[in-house]
Amino acid sequence: MEKKRSLGTVCIQGGWEPKNGEPRQLPIYQSTTFKYTTSEQMGRLFDLEESGYFYTRLANPTNDAVAAKICELEGGVGAMLTSSGQAATFYSILNICEAGDHIISSATIYGGTSNLFTVTFPKMGIECTLVNPDADEEELAKAFRPNTKAVFGESIANPALTVLDFEKFARLAHSHGVPLIVDNTFATPINCRPFEWGADIVIHSTTKYMDGHAMTVGGVIVDSGNFDWEAWHDKYKGLTEPDESYHGIIYTQRFGKLAYITKATAQLMRDLGSIQSPQNAFLLNIGLETLHLRVPRHCESAQKVAEYLKSREDVAWVNYPGLPGDKYYELAQKYMPKGTCGVISFGLKSGRKGVAEFMDKLKFCSIETHVADSRTAVLHPASHTHRQLTDEQLVEAGVDPAMIRFSVGIEDVEDIIEDIRQALES
Ligand SMILES: *Cc1c(COP(=O)(O)O)cnc(C)c1O
Repeated sequence: MEKKRSLGTVCIQGGWEPKNGEPRQLPIYQSTTFKYTTSEQMGRLFDLEESGYFYTRLANPTNDAVAAKICELEGGVGAMLTSSGQAATFYSILNICEAGDHIISSATIYGGTSNLFTVTFPKMGIECTLVNPDADEEELAKAFRPNTKAVFGESIANPALTVLDFEKFARLAHSHGVPLIVDNTFATPINCRPFEWGADIVIHSTTKYMDGHAMTVGGVIVDSGNFDWEAWHDKYKGLTEPDESYHGIIYTQRFGKLAYITKATAQLMRDLGSIQSPQNAFLLNIGLETLHLRVPRHCESAQKVAEYLKSREDVAWVNYPGLPGDKYYELAQKYMPKGTCGVISFGLKSGRKGVAEFMDKLKFCSIETHVADSRTAVLHPASHTHRQLTDEQLVEAGVDPAMIRFSVGIEDVEDIIEDIRQALES
């Protein structure tokens, strides 16, 4: 067997492999449509009997090259780019769920995902039970119902910074005959490859580290090809029984390990259309070319910033899964020994008022609704993302009113620490 390429090589070389005389850099196929010489061939494409491009809402060569790179980074069998991380999460569930179904998700997830699962999905007839990711297996097992179709979690949660116990969640999901879907945005495949720990589907908001330059909103779904849909035939009829919108093809029979990702592209993208623009895919690809260089730097610097904050008297607490003594340190060492992410959360003893003063005094660490970017960014959830909540409601939602979310960039760490020092001391 050919040796698998290492991740750094895939970041540069993956996806686009030009043949003799072709452009070295991935071309932007800025075209909505594709030309054919016979009507019959075009017909075969519409029946999924032949693979080929016909309309960019379903697939585009630029997007496919970038998806193939991410797929190789994650060690999957197929991938699809989406217009945003939210679209990726939405499709990853909708591909196997319909009205009357139920999903289980870790309670510590991104706020947008939480709204999707607990406000919008119920309106579509899909119910969600949020579970404490640290609960034991017996407790977690109680959340399963006969109509449960998927389990969802984030490898490192934004903004809670909990680390998912992949093996526990995979065991639970699989013993109940459902796939484990993991949002791997914060860890990235450089630090953690969820498929190696039993996850079946991985999604990302590529808007964060993968892009890395705050240029493009995007998402991706990667399929490991490992979940045996046919073993649970009646539960996943969308994959195991004829799709009338394609003259009765059966995805598991026709596409085998690619059944899930093919259905997502051929059916969901066709009908709902949240494709990533080829222009954005091109920009995302440039970000991916340095992912393996940027991510270790983010982690190294975040480690130093976390240690610095921890050493200060005016800082009440610091959460960072790379810090020995952190609640998630052991899980992080097990699942992501090379590093976790660049995002830290901490609280100030001076409370909510002190936080606002601290943030206003920062010089280049900027106030932004964004994380996981080359530039250091800071956000106060109580004043920004969660501003409609009272202090009591914030505590219930697990957000300390004095909590600061600090996303360490790849500037020189001495300068980042100096900026924090002067803001705390002035
Ligand atoms: C930002 C984010 C999302 C949503 O992604 P968008 O690209 O903003 O739609 C999903 N999950 C996590 C962990 C995120 O940080």
